[in-house]
Amino acid sequence: MNTQETKYIYQQLGIEETVLEFGNRIIDQLKDRFSDIDDTAEFNQLKVIKAMQECKVSDVHFSGSTGYGYNDLGRDTLEEVYAKIFRAEDALVRPQITCGTHALALALSSNLRPGDELLSPVGKPYDTLESVIGIRKSPGSLAEYGVTYRQVELLEDGTFDYEGIKKAIHDKTKVITIQRSKGYQTRPSFSVTQIGELISFVKKIKPDVICMVDNCYGEFVERIEPVEVGADMAVGSLIKNPGGGLAPIGGYIVGKKACIEQAAYRLTSPGLGKEVGASLGVIPSFYQGLFQAPTVVASSLKGAIFAANIYEYLGYSVIPNGTESRHDIIQAVTFGTPEGVCAFCEGIQAAAPVDSFVTPVPWEMPGYDSEVIMAAGAFVQGSSIELSADGPMKPPYAVYFQGGLTWQHAKLGILMSLQKLIDKQVISKSQMVL
Ligand SMILES: *Cc1c(COP(=O)(O)O)cnc(C)c1O
Repeated sequence: MNTQETKYIYQQLGIEETVLEFGNRIIDQLKDRFSDIDDTAEFNQLKVIKAMQECKVSDVHFSGSTGYGYNDLGRDTLEEVYAKIFRAEDALVRPQITCGTHALALALSSNLRPGDELLSPVGKPYDTLESVIGIRKSPGSLAEYGVTYRQVELLEDGTFDYEGIKKAIHDKTKVITIQRSKGYQTRPSFSVTQIGELISFVKKIKPDVICMVDNCYGEFVERIEPVEVGADMAVGSLIKNPGGGLAPIGGYIVGKKACIEQAAYRLTSPGLGKEVGASLGVIPSFYQGLFQAPTVVASSLKGAIFAANIYEYLGYSVIPNGTESRHDIIQAVTFGTPEGVCAFCEGIQAAAPVDSFVTPVPWEMPGYDSEVIMAAGAFVQGSSIELSADGPMKPPYAVYFQGGLTWQHAKLGILMSLQKLIDKQVISKSQMVL
């Protein structure tokens, strides 16, 4: 399927012909899956264009503001566009929201008050939220402000423990946090429909409870988003899916007007809310990134499915497996050894357009409870919608792989990871017969 020239440049980049041929045979088997992904991308692309048209996005929205940022039309219109795309009453989309954790901390801390309880009905939340909530003792945590926390584990098979959830909800339960993506865990990610079922169940028990979905890595993977199935807030990072690789910073919260208002007063100040917050020069990249996000997400998904099928074939445990439907762009591969995790990450790094010459090593990271190895040769620091991989250095020694602004780059990265595993003799070439 590749021409001689293409094969030759792969070789120059360090990919042996056997590795390329093996990869290509796997891709041959994925044609139908890839076509479904393109269909979803088409739908989501149209959804984004329609929202931009309805909000009359125009040249005047790209100029930005300074100082207080009063009447920043570009910023305010972008928030309208987000609200339309996510079918929400309102949105807060700001460069002042520094990352996904910040957006989640903001959504939670602004909607909870001392004496309230936060419940996670889907087990342990993302590592960095442990400090936000105060599961791990932390200055400034919700726990320090008198917000209590409870969590209900998932059942063995990764489904919701409805019985346990019912018991955990009481009159102090104010906010429920549901993480769509698996994050650094080996549980399945949830579909938007599953999340909707959980929200309906919870609202039947306590109608006024605020349901927040941590939407990180989930945007544009499906045709519907959490607010459409009853979430009061959906929260995410602009250096993941919705920034399309172009947003250099930022986070968003979409949802009920009352919830967004609380978040805005917390982000800036009581009395000021959404009225202030200069967008400086970054707003055009937010628009352009959002415009590209559906196809960027499609590229990432193809990469994830390609990786799943390669490593499943080679005998590793992969989540999701090679044939499962997708609810986020993360692919977990369990190598079982530190060597496997490191070799995989070295391959991803070596395939990058930026910093391909450096070797990633495991390191302490703020907010994480073990050393983490991270591979990222990204244009935007730490951007994980760009091809990237990270693995906490603890059992089961799984690597979490995501992103890829283009499918062609994702393909190269995965082939390179395989090449490194072969070079380090973690995998032998004789395993690659198809
Ligand atoms: C990435 C992520 C976060 C945190 O986002 P940062 O931008 O890294 O702070 C939270 N939850 C999930 C599920 C994530 O994937």
